[in-house]
Amino acid sequence: MRYGKDAGRGTLSVWGGEEHVFAENTTQVPVYLGVAHAYEDVDEWKDVALGKKAGHIYGRNTNPTVHVFEEKVRLLEGAEAATSAATGMGIISGVLCTFLAPGDRVVSVKDTYGGTSVMFREFLPRQGVVCSLRDTTDHEAIEKELSRGCKLLYLETPTNPTIKIIDIARLAKAGHEAGAVVVVDNTFATPINQNPIELGADLVLHSATKFLGGHADVLGGVVCGKKDLVKKIYHYREINGASLAPMSAYLLLRGMKTLSLRVERQNENAMAIARFLEAHPGIDRVFYPGLESHKGHDIAIRQMRGFGGMMSFTLKGNSFETVRKFLSKLRLAHKAANLGAVETIAGVPATTSHVECTADERKVLGIPESLVRYSVGIEDTKDLIQDLTQALDGI
Ligand SMILES: *Cc1c(COP(=O)(O)O)cnc(C)c1O
Repeated sequence: MRYGKDAGRGTLSVWGGEEHVFAENTTQVPVYLGVAHAYEDVDEWKDVALGKKAGHIYGRNTNPTVHVFEEKVRLLEGAEAATSAATGMGIISGVLCTFLAPGDRVVSVKDTYGGTSVMFREFLPRQGVVCSLRDTTDHEAIEKELSRGCKLLYLETPTNPTIKIIDIARLAKAGHEAGAVVVVDNTFATPINQNPIELGADLVLHSATKFLGGHADVLGGVVCGKKDLVKKIYHYREINGASLAPMSAYLLLRGMKTLSLRVERQNENAMAIARFLEAHPGIDRVFYPGLESHKGHDIAIRQMRGFGGMMSFTLKGNSFETVRKFLSKLRLAHKAANLGAVETIAGVPATTSHVECTADERKVLGIPESLVRYSVGIEDTKDLIQDLTQALDGI
């Protein structure tokens, strides 16, 4: 091994999963595009197919490039096993379909990612799964709901787009008492800032499309956790066919080399910008867990090493018209639906996280129409603050 058991996340971002010596001694992970792996020896083929010997058979099931990506995330999350999918929703729907059958109850919160919320509100109920969604920060209500029996507890923290914080350790304990599998969507925090497994979760998943890839040029999803649970998810995924493509895995690996560097910079930038915005007269509210004024600040301090690159805020006046003007003035940001990239990205929930919801549904969810979601990039802090200043002055 090149590094010890206590290797830091910077080292794991660079070296994790890359112990293998690849063909021709190349130092970089090759992109294995071959769909199938051939065996002259039928007995060996059989052993690999049965999992008695390491190796690969068919691209929908496993692939060497994809495997290195899964290993890197597994190591960063401190998990036993990992498997992946073509997108974040590919892995999320896979996890839900693996563990939930007609009559089962799943407990989750109202602020899950828009696509996940559609699973709970539309597709799972259609399969006869009872989905109970509680107020995101009402820990007592979630615990009460869990005590009624629950097959799966699904959490996400920090949440999208109002950056709420859920106490993972507390609810993982309550989930386990109810006999539930505890899942956490760790996309916003990244494994650099938060490790849900360490806090008691059974499974942690990511939309790798966001911070893991970090360059807004590739889609992917990954889940890690206990071996027996991951094996079941993998079994569903190999049949459902939403496998991560080798070229995508390569791009994710390339992006992840700098994961630790990027996230540390995003943590710093976001903290400085949150303080700046909080003090600005044109701003109504700032949602960032690093601020003492944030309702989940105490929990965040306990379970996060950094507060992340995601924040949101509302403008004085709380009208969509003001937001439209503000966004049109903002220069140093893509106005786009994604997040977690090296570039700063700004958007409104109506076109990003909750594009799947109607205006009425967003109102019920407590998402102000004037909310701006701001994904902080790795630019210089002073330049971002300057840009925000001129945009706020211009409205
Ligand atoms: C984007 C996102 C997803 C979905 O990921 P895709 O890769 O777009 O399918 C899930 N959860 C969170 C928190 C996200 O931000």
